[in-house]
Amino acid sequence: MFYFSSIEGRKVLKTDLLCGIEHFFTTRELCLFAQEADMSGNRKIVEDYLGQKMATNQPVHGVHIEDVVQGKFFYEKTDGLLLHHGQAAFMNFGDCVPIILYSQNKGIIAHAGWRGTAQKMAQVAIKKLVGEYNIEPQNIKAVIGPAICSKCYEVGQDVYEQLLGTVSNQDCGFCQDNGKYFVGLKDINRQQLLECGVEQIDVCPYCTACGEKLFFSYRFEKTGYRHSAVLKL
Ligand SMILES: [Zn+2]
Repeated sequence: MFYFSSIEGRKVLKTDLLCGIEHFFTTRELCLFAQEADMSGNRKIVEDYLGQKMATNQPVHGVHIEDVVQGKFFYEKTDGLLLHHGQAAFMNFGDCVPIILYSQNKGIIAHAGWRGTAQKMAQVAIKKLVGEYNIEPQNIKAVIGPAICSKCYEVGQDVYEQLLGTVSNQDCGFCQDNGKYFVGLKDINRQQLLECGVEQIDVCPYCTACGEKLFFSYRFEKTGYRHSAVLKL
């Protein structure tokens, strides 16, 4: 279940699935990254709150996941960061799906837009935790953060069909209406997680484009501002 909390009076979103683990999704009130503006003041607020410096990444819509190492804070050309105990990171989003995975003092933050979802980023991340750390999928907690909803996200038929091919159960996340194609990337990522054995999943109910304007929508605002997923282990 998602709920609001605050840092220095600025609204952030958290989930009780990760109770006891420092994590949150920033809202428009605490933007950590913008293409056209300096957000270092807000990053300092968060780093002071966490008591340490955060790593971050340059997303490229792939499925590579980089291990965060001590003393390195910027990771080029990667859409996933794996954190160990004592590390903190943030990752930026403007409609794409933020995924946070946690188990046994290992955590991953991942970025999955339609391209990452088509390449099954969620399953790539689960396989990394299973393969490298011997963690069972049923012991992994998975959080799908705020992202664009299926009503707001029209795609071409080619993208729709690519995404259909990523899941066996296609009941959720796919809709055709008057020759238009819509996908729910949060639903598809949830299904990908279920289909590789993950049982503990919390999906954020908020859309970045419709409803309350809590987050940033690249598609509808063409903005360079981003909201972020933050994790500290
Ligand atoms: Zn929406």
